[in-house]
Amino acid sequence: MLPRWHILWGAVFSIAVWLFLPGVSLFYISLIFLASFLIDFDHYMSGAMSIRDYNLKNVLKYHRELLKKEKEENKKGIRVRGHFHLFHTLEFHILVFALGYLWQGFWFILAGMIFHSLLDIASLINRDRLYRREYFLVAWLLRKA
Ligand SMILES: [Zn+2]
Repeated sequence: MLPRWHILWGAVFSIAVWLFLPGVSLFYISLIFLASFLIDFDHYMSGAMSIRDYNLKNVLKYHRELLKKEKEENKKGIRVRGHFHLFHTLEFHILVFALGYLWQGFWFILAGMIFHSLLDIASLINRDRLYRREYFLVAWLLRKA
């Protein structure tokens, strides 16, 4: 899902949480909002490392080309996994949950991350692209070993 949609839906979700739980401070609500799209920073990092260029414009261009290539492959029945995205793994979500015991702000960050991940999964299912992602850090590490 494109960042602009994550920002839009993240805002809708954050406002909904704020309406349903008016006792939650705006600081925590903004953590939910920021986490709902900043989790995609790993997409930027994986792209930047692949092309060895940290210019955002070039990384976005690279991702657009990658998406085009992936669509063509998908049409031919070629189903390959995409880049590894650490922040999107189950283990990273568990880590953020555990950090919540040190500072409860992490639980609001986790709420934004879970919302983001659910949107991603819905979008991947909708576009028949579930195979593109690695959901487990452990599985990725085992394949690398
Ligand atoms: Zn994402």
